[in-house]
Amino acid sequence: MADIKVKLEVFDVIIVGAGGAGLAAAVQTGLAKLKTAVITEVYPTRSHTVSAQGGIAASLGNMEEDHWIWHMYDTVKGSDYLGDQDAIEEFIKHAPETVYELEHWGVPFSRNENGTIYQRRFGGHTRNFGEAAVQRACAVADRSGHALLHALFERTLRPDIVQYVSYYTEYYAAELFRDKETGKAIGILAWDMVNGGFTMFFGQAVIFATGGNTRNYRTGTNAHVNTGDGWKLCLKAGVPIEDPEFVQFHPTGIYGVGNLITEGVRGEGGYLLNGLGERFMPKYAPKVMDLASRDVVSRAMATEIREGRGVGPKKDHILLKLDHLGKDLIMSRLPGIWELAYKFVGVDCTKEPIPVQPSAHYHMGGIPTNVKGEVVDWDGKNEVRIPGLYAGGECACQSVHGANRLGCNSLLDIVVNGKQAGMNAARYILEERPEFPLPPLENIADEYGKETIEKVKAYFDGGPGEIKMDDIWERLRDSMQENMSVFRIEKGMKEQSKEIDKYFEEFKKVGITDKSPYFNTELIELLELESLLYVSKVETEAALARQESRGGHFRDDYPERDDVNWLKHTLVRWKDGKVELDYKPVRMKGATAPTFPPKKRVY
Ligand code: FAD
Repeated sequence: MADIKVKLEVFDVIIVGAGGAGLAAAVQTGLAKLKTAVITEVYPTRSHTVSAQGGIAASLGNMEEDHWIWHMYDTVKGSDYLGDQDAIEEFIKHAPETVYELEHWGVPFSRNENGTIYQRRFGGHTRNFGEAAVQRACAVADRSGHALLHALFERTLRPDIVQYVSYYTEYYAAELFRDKETGKAIGILAWDMVNGGFTMFFGQAVIFATGGNTRNYRTGTNAHVNTGDGWKLCLKAGVPIEDPEFVQFHPTGIYGVGNLITEGVRGEGGYLLNGLGERFMPKYAPKVMDLASRDVVSRAMATEIREGRGVGPKKDHILLKLDHLGKDLIMSRLPGIWELAYKFVGVDCTKEPIPVQPSAHYHMGGIPTNVKGEVVDWDGKNEVRIPGLYAGGECACQSVHGANRLGCNSLLDIVVNGKQAGMNAARYILEERPEFPLPPLENIADEYGKETIEKVKAYFDGGPGEIKMDDIWERLRDSMQENMSVFRIEKGMKEQSKEIDKYFEEFKKVGITDKSPYFNTELIELLELESLLYVSKVETEAALARQESRGGHFRDDYPERDDVNWLKHTLVRWKDGKVELDYKPVRMKGATAPTFPPKKRVY
């Protein structure tokens, strides 16, 4: 029998994830002098925030007139009216002060000649309620996420903060603990990836900041670590997931590999061409053309390809032209893009266009929270707070992005809402003074984490398994790409749902061949595959039920938006191995801003 050690640690707050959202939360809990454990699968500055390119949106008005209300309008319209308008108002209003705070914390923003922060155009961001594109994305060349993540990490290392913050790097969170009587979130079970063995982290509040999930698609922009573990842990612990059907396909992933080419390229003046050499976006979005929101551009590209006007022998991709911008501009504002195109497809984009295709990029839905970052369930009439549980960043759903996220609104989301989650977790502990229902230490391993620990023991004790996990991974990614992509139909989604059930059955027959406790990546990949099965199942079932097209969810069989029946959020719960669907209304009223009622989205 494998001897798996189980350790115990007690903190005030446990944060799962050390990307932009997790670090923004850690700054707050550290400042509040709360003992904080940050558990992360990868070293903090390797979290996927590091790869964000184009910038962070804020109506600074440095280059041309801009106002927060225009930013709010764009975000509501971009969300295809599914975003909660109170949440949108709150986070958009915080945008300018957030950017200045980041500047003061050391983010080296690109500069205008007069010394102000440089801002570029980005998809769906307009002035005067949709009149024309506006320069709103505050950029650090095309390495904005890198700069932001490092500044946040450095902030947590300040002496008055770091004395309260302990990093558990290369720890994999495998289970969320909730008090059996009260339902309070009280801890996390995590696997020590370097040395093997589990640690039970108990605390008075748990904050999820586990990032994105789109590794369940064949072509995607996300890192290998983005496997939706936060969603799985929540679903298994009885917490619903909101709006998982809304998946954003970014228009410009590099053809065949998926690595992202930022929308900033189009913001600087690049544009898309079909196989006939035509600039086709004016046909789909006459006003802002290539800078329409992402769902619109991705669908336009997919339509060109579907109607036989794609590029290449298979006519299956599109070209992104930017050589006309000139080498100086490309090398100063888009150096990372040049490097990506050259390294991955051998294209020198100062001379020739980059082959691109829509690639899975972002889940608009997630762990449901209110504007304070408190995780909330729904009792049919009201939101019901889950005590001690918080979430922020890409794994969460506030919902500020609704059915489609605008570019550069995610970096804003992770900093603003990560901060809210940290601040309010601190307030909960310091002001509400929750009882801390830690069971007697000698019994703790009987009370919590037993099933997960036994399962991992069984992997170490068992054989290699009848079915190889790679085989499930590959089929999952291909089938999701086929059935749950830019265009969806009932038949494909029904097939996909059955396929995933089959994968769950097959998953029971998978084992591991590596029996070492040290850096056992096979074990971690297995647990991550399980997470992606959960993500794929809730995504598919929610999409199948939603009989309309809105934002990132487009159905050929229901091509119109249906505000009469479907202006509502989906909630998916996991009960006894099955998916249950529920719905809650969209909040249409901001705190001070006028309501933006649904209307036809034209760009
Ligand atoms: P992440 O930064 O992904 O961090 C997740 C953390 O969770 C990591 O620390 C990871 O180790 C940890 N974790 C996950 N699972 C576990 C587990 N089981 N146990 C322990 N730890 C775990 N948005 C913009 O606004 N502007 C842009 O220009 C932009 N460009 C982008 C470019 C690319 C290529 C991509 C992919 C996205 C881009 N985005 C952009 C989106 C944005 O970068 C992300 O949505 C955002 O950075 C996510 O931050 P996060 O803190 O939520 O998660």
